[in-house]
Amino acid sequence: MTHKAEEMTPSELRAALERYPVVILATGILEWHADHLPLGLDALKIRGIAERLAERTGAVLLPQQWLGVVGYDEMFGTITFSKETVKRVFKEFFVNLDLMGAKVIVFLTGHYGPYQVETVKEAAAEYEAARDVRIIAQPEYEGVTVDGREPCDHAGTFETSMAMALFPELVRMEEYTQELEIPTQHPPRPNPWGYESPRGTWRFPEDLRETAGAELGERAVQAILDHLAARIEEELHRV
Ligand SMILES: [Zn+2]
Repeated sequence: MTHKAEEMTPSELRAALERYPVVILATGILEWHADHLPLGLDALKIRGIAERLAERTGAVLLPQQWLGVVGYDEMFGTITFSKETVKRVFKEFFVNLDLMGAKVIVFLTGHYGPYQVETVKEAAAEYEAARDVRIIAQPEYEGVTVDGREPCDHAGTFETSMAMALFPELVRMEEYTQELEIPTQHPPRPNPWGYESPRGTWRFPEDLRETAGAELGERAVQAILDHLAARIEEELHRV
């Protein structure tokens, strides 16, 4: 049985939502993630987590979205959108899902930084304030610790490890260097936060050849799934 909305017939979708009125909506962006990881890392990572969460809980999984705000905007390969656009699109998703019968929406972002987190949480809070639907809006690491650390970085030990666990064929450790030149693609574009990406040399605090691995990635993914499954149960009891 599929959990993917795009593979269901209307009657299958209706039955799935009547059985378990929870929908997962995941987003990431194309963004520079050093030389050893694909540009789609954030979206591929959150898609892998969302697929497992849907299988584990029986929630309906929507098609992957590729939308987010700054980020490492000036680095080559990154594509971002304005805060207004991102908020508008996701609030329109919430309208559709609410009308379809979702009681809990799990809105996950695999791209983060304070501006993306602010944007997704604002979109959710503004919609939730006017309606009965509950929205769990968060980056995957929120509320989770692995070996005493929050599994949150940029192309570092945790993102690399989760990529090794979820899509090892796209991890190119032979391209990895602890220090590398950031490929700048254009000067900063205006954004409401006045944010500018780092330039010049990027240096990982740890040597990922020693710290990253599929086993750690698998533990991080499992800790995230445990947390999200518990959060869904909490919210289902409130509706
Ligand atoms: Zn990332």
